[in-house]
Amino acid sequence: MKKAVCRWKIFKRQATRRVIGTQFAGLAVALSLVTMPTHAFDYNMAQAKQDEMLTRIVITTNSQYAFPLEKTLGMSQSYHGVHPGVDLRAPVGTKVLAMAEGTIIEVGNMLIGYGHFVRIAHHGTISTLYAHLDKISVKSGERVERGQEIGTVGMTGWTTGPHLHFEVHAGEKAVNPLNYISQ
Ligand SMILES: [Zn+2]
Repeated sequence: MKKAVCRWKIFKRQATRRVIGTQFAGLAVALSLVTMPTHAFDYNMAQAKQDEMLTRIVITTNSQYAFPLEKTLGMSQSYHGVHPGVDLRAPVGTKVLAMAEGTIIEVGNMLIGYGHFVRIAHHGTISTLYAHLDKISVKSGERVERGQEIGTVGMTGWTTGPHLHFEVHAGEKAVNPLNYISQ
């Protein structure tokens, strides 16, 4: 199967390579957090308890947000300096879900770039963007619930295969979506 990637990566390959190293370091830290409970027997009781608390905090933080897809085949591109979101692979037609409750503030159709996209404003200054959609089932100004379907995965805009390009913004700044969602 063709790997679904955004073409921004091709233009900024060198910068990407540099940043990817940092991402792997982050991933290693994240993985070590996730795997900690299974190795709890290797630690003394105090350490195990600390790990358990840490794991619970991570899960609690993420549980207020829905994963933006009903199912995914995995991440084909992470968040980094020249790619302000994550690419989540999924077949065309897979339901795209609102990460949290909010108001639809933009429904767009770009011939290149994002293609068909939806932007949602959430509580505070958090907003999310869902790009390369096939069908869109919401209108600007509409209220949505957490986990509500807003459209389906497609291949519109600049993409080499079906995937959801997903961004989270805190104010004006695009932040790492993996701080909000977990698979
Ligand atoms: Zn992307």
